[in-house]
Amino acid sequence: MEFKQCLENYAELAVKIALNVQPGETVWINCSLHQPEFVRLVVRKAYEAGAKQVHVEWSDDEVTRLRYQLAPQDSFGEYPQWRADAVTQVAAEGGAYLLIESRDPDLLAGTDPARSTAFQKAAGAALAKWREYTYTDRATWSIIAAPSVAWAEKVFPELSGEEAVRALWEAIFKATRADRENPVEAWKAHNAALDKRVHQLNAKQYKKLHYRAPGTELTVALPEQHVWSGGNTVNAKGNDFNPNVPTEEVFVSPHREGTEGYVTSTKPLSYNGTLIENFTLTFKQGRIVDFKAEKGYDSLKELIEMDEGSHYLGEAALVQHDSPISNANLIFLNTLFDENASNHLAIGRAFSSSLEGGADLSKEELAARGLNDSLTHVDFMIGSAEMDIDGELADGTREPVFRNGNWALV
Ligand code: ZN
Repeated sequence: MEFKQCLENYAELAVKIALNVQPGETVWINCSLHQPEFVRLVVRKAYEAGAKQVHVEWSDDEVTRLRYQLAPQDSFGEYPQWRADAVTQVAAEGGAYLLIESRDPDLLAGTDPARSTAFQKAAGAALAKWREYTYTDRATWSIIAAPSVAWAEKVFPELSGEEAVRALWEAIFKATRADRENPVEAWKAHNAALDKRVHQLNAKQYKKLHYRAPGTELTVALPEQHVWSGGNTVNAKGNDFNPNVPTEEVFVSPHREGTEGYVTSTKPLSYNGTLIENFTLTFKQGRIVDFKAEKGYDSLKELIEMDEGSHYLGEAALVQHDSPISNANLIFLNTLFDENASNHLAIGRAFSSSLEGGADLSKEELAARGLNDSLTHVDFMIGSAEMDIDGELADGTREPVFRNGNWALV
């Protein structure tokens, strides 16, 4: 399929599948300057779908880097209240939020990781209200991606400039099914397949998941009355949307105190502009009690030690090794894609939607039922073709959920 048609399809997916824009809605887009043509296509399609106003907030990697290099240290503990108020207002009024990711995975390399940690904390606090809308899916939000030269050249080190960008676009089109004849229909079928897995797992109500792979011997307990999710979800107005495009995962939040053993990453993690590679975490009663990393140890330490909740897990996700993303055999150096190539876990905040009736529970009630809380939520990849997972039923019997990286649950 021709490049132009794929780009058009991808913009269509952003509006029809990621956000499912409805007439009269406001759309907020965060993006960088790398792909203005694509952003304009999305804006056009959003208006065509009936959007009332499409607000685009552009950023520039160089401007971001200058700030991390030159701004005074104490400025990173501040977050502009007017900006938090603006996105919160859009969410409160039933608008949709789209993030188009393009960032250089090493954008902040060489800057003080304490700066990004301080800023994450400040942003986390200032955006608390907005996150209530998005974490509970009451407001529509979604993340997609578009290449930048710096990102594309890291994914395709043998290519440069426009050639690398073109190769990354093509990989994104494949991963997102934008290269299909009718991508919107393809996504509807894909959402239905994920929904089937969600229903199977919800009916099983496994007490524990047992993970086995080279470098991994891990048991993850799941809270009582847990709820798996995956694919599309429904906002407060009853319209479905896909919070991530692409997505291949079904996920749940583990019980805060129920993780035991050790787990080793299988893909690099890009965290706050630094790559963390080949790391192992050891858990006791849910808490990370030890960790090591071949690369990016300081960033991993910053992440784990951000607050108390960042010592615990907030997500366990199952992703079949045989998927369009995994089959591309490419490391995208971007969690949106790499997490969908692999089983993963997340450090930090759990999803209230992972408990029956969770959306109506207070923070204290969620904690009492075993959910973790933190200012952060960062996915990291642990899956491979060598991973087996067993599910442990209420009576203690175990059955295969994954064998050799693929679904074994029938
Ligand atoms: Zn996930």
